[in-house]
Amino acid sequence: FAENNAKPIWHPMAHPAEMRASPPKVIMKGEGVHVTDIEGRTVLDAVGGLWNVNLGYNCDPIKQAIAAQLDALPYYSGFRGTSTGPSIELAYELSQWFAPEGMVRTFFTSGGSDSVETALRLARQHWKIRGQGDRTKFLALKKGYHGTHFGGASVNGNANFRRNYEPLLPGCFHTPAPWAYRNPYDETDPVRLAKLCARAIEDEIAFQGADTIAAFIMEPVLGAGGVIVPPETFMPLVREICDRHDILLIADEVVTAFGRTGAWSGSRLWNVKPDFMTIAKAITCGYFPLGATLIGQKVADVFEADKTSFGAIGHGYTYSGHPVGCAAGLAALAETKRLGVNENAAARGVELSKALEALKTKHALVGDVRGTGLMAALELVSDRASKKPVDKKTMAKVADGAYEAGVMLRVSGNMIILSPPLVITAADVAKIAEGLDAGLTAASAAG
Ligand code: PMP
Repeated sequence: FAENNAKPIWHPMAHPAEMRASPPKVIMKGEGVHVTDIEGRTVLDAVGGLWNVNLGYNCDPIKQAIAAQLDALPYYSGFRGTSTGPSIELAYELSQWFAPEGMVRTFFTSGGSDSVETALRLARQHWKIRGQGDRTKFLALKKGYHGTHFGGASVNGNANFRRNYEPLLPGCFHTPAPWAYRNPYDETDPVRLAKLCARAIEDEIAFQGADTIAAFIMEPVLGAGGVIVPPETFMPLVREICDRHDILLIADEVVTAFGRTGAWSGSRLWNVKPDFMTIAKAITCGYFPLGATLIGQKVADVFEADKTSFGAIGHGYTYSGHPVGCAAGLAALAETKRLGVNENAAARGVELSKALEALKTKHALVGDVRGTGLMAALELVSDRASKKPVDKKTMAKVADGAYEAGVMLRVSGNMIILSPPLVITAADVAKIAEGLDAGLTAASAAG
């Protein structure tokens, strides 16, 4: 089946030729924190779908909410003059949920890339309304990931994701991420590293001219780039710099919102109020594609008091505020809150981090482990002194070995990225560590 019938699919983030040569794992079923493949093998999903299935599979309240909404109304648009009940309710719920971050308005999208695109566009539009239309540039962090639309790809901090699609949006600039394991300053002290990275932002702003910059975009904890947890002083420093130069701050919380870090959002983890938050993924826990761009008071006021010709939003998606997606979102958020999954993420995260440290002690291949809550990464190196990344084959051996041992892992370059459902138990954490151990043992033996 997979070998023959999967030929017409091109998969995201995969080489078409490589995928044709090696068929995908076909996942047929999910229950709790486990998924079952077409051969009937059941494994613990340490990837959590793709950072999003926070409540696990087969979650009754979400399924029931979707079914009920399908019966009542499968779709109506939210364009000019119409809306639907679930979208209004969810926007209200989000404004309550993210009140501590200062978010007061919601613009619905179909996913994370759309949410980023929306934030970038609304940021520029906000400057046009304010008569400062020259503020068009965007600053971002190297290693940051912001989706794959042209805007998001332009602020993406990984050149590999940009180079095949250039020329991208002009006026996007990147400064070093506060990544203790690898940074241009060879600095491991968190406070000094945060200061150095903040100074790089200041220098870039001085070089570009603050009055040409629309916004700074960052993930409060960098996810896809390898779970880079900034020192706690970093995001507050960025907020202070943005305030001083009147630059908008966009927190890309597609991964970090709804408990993944152990806090309800990454911005809350660092006690920062951004001007925009982009969310998606766990907003429905993977049960329906949906995203949102949340808007803070300062920006909302500019739009809502507009007396220029620039205020109308010329942007949106057919599926902005999809009623079934919003119904799924309402149920997912209610269940997320009821279970207090952020607290479980924090507690299980401490256990996971201990287990990963033990694996680092045991396996020379592990160069670095890092994470917060239930987002974590292991970086594999062939030599700890030079930090030389291991090759693709070794990474595949780790993933295959873990799968054999009953754990699904995600490989990205020389990193293993862990983002299990937030409802995992202590026994599940132990199982993930066991799977990793098996994979690392298999790779070390082969290597
Ligand atoms: N921003 C961040 C921080 C992400 O991690 C992702 C997806 N991994 C996106 C944006 C894009 O989201 P989507 O894949 O839903 O378009």
